[in-house]
Amino acid sequence: MAKVQLIRIKKSFGGKTVLNDVNLTINEGEFVALLGPSGSGKTTLLHGIAGIIPFDEGNIYFDGQLMDFVPIEKRNAVLVDQNILLFPHMTVYENISFGLKIRKIGKKEIKNKVEKFLDMMELYGHENKYPHELSGGQKQRVALARALIVEPKVLLLDEPFSKLDIVLRKSLQEFIREIQRKLNITTILVTHDKEEALSLADRIAVLIEGEIKQYDIPKNIYEKPVSIEVADFFGKTNYFKGKIKNGNFITDIGTFNVNSPDKSKVTLMLRPEQIIICDENESNVKGKIIKRTYLGDKVNYLIVVKGQVIYVSTFTDKNFNVDEDVYFYLDFNKAAYLEED
Ligand code: ADP
Ligand code: MG
Repeated sequence: MAKVQLIRIKKSFGGKTVLNDVNLTINEGEFVALLGPSGSGKTTLLHGIAGIIPFDEGNIYFDGQLMDFVPIEKRNAVLVDQNILLFPHMTVYENISFGLKIRKIGKKEIKNKVEKFLDMMELYGHENKYPHELSGGQKQRVALARALIVEPKVLLLDEPFSKLDIVLRKSLQEFIREIQRKLNITTILVTHDKEEALSLADRIAVLIEGEIKQYDIPKNIYEKPVSIEVADFFGKTNYFKGKIKNGNFITDIGTFNVNSPDKSKVTLMLRPEQIIICDENESNVKGKIIKRTYLGDKVNYLIVVKGQVIYVSTFTDKNFNVDEDVYFYLDFNKAAYLEED
């Protein structure tokens, strides 16, 4: 359970910069999601932490100890990825105990530990099966047990759920989170799935084009992104350009109260579910619905106000039709202030 520090990490492949000055601290026992689009350098960063590849520049510390020249097997960091590579000719028991066996640990101690993990991973009764006799979820749990049984300091997960179907993925996500808490193991989960990152992580590091664009708790990443680039990564959202003067935000669709100092140029963001459709007497902002999408648990609307298209998402108890005029409430005190990219 180590504190992991990455300081000024750089990596290029064939002259192309893949990681550009990455700084990241993950506290002991913390669960951090490394979130970014495909090709943003997530796997490269994880492989460097594990010791599979060297970085070009920068330093890695585990608990203040420099890891840069420590070989992979001595780093005490284990990697589990989407390619579940179990030994096909070994049983579940043999797969899980493999790491202890090569460390020359006594048979009795191995048995005790394997039993603990069979129990924790809900694999009891499957210990004598071979990998081909297991489901995808069971295989991934064996892979996790095999990785965790050697008591690594750091758990590195590279999109471990991405090949599993949605139901299995959800249950394994919760499962991993539970075990991670129980063992208090410092964990970095690489994912491009926003929901997975938001729901599981203590903190999210958003990696775009080899740079950490924001590192914060999920709520702040979603509600208070620092830039349009980060905000857009979490789906459709609303931007309002304007200025702030004497406690008013002045923008194309109207003037709104805000508790902010004057600013000659700002971009404020409100998520679709932060805009509330309301009664006429509660607002003076009116728009026309031009599109309605029913999603079961919510309804999304596209609304035009003074030429600007606004995304609004509501629960299904509020039902409006295309071409209907609606009033809505915008609380710009809840808005995020964005840097222009
Ligand atoms: P991610 O995991 O975020 O999808 P990767 O870290 O796998 O991204 O890759 C980032 C970039 O680095 C990609 O453009 C990829 O093609 C490149 N890359 C990764 N590994 C190598 C390698 N061994 N040789 C050359 N280019 C690589
Ligand atoms: Mg990857």
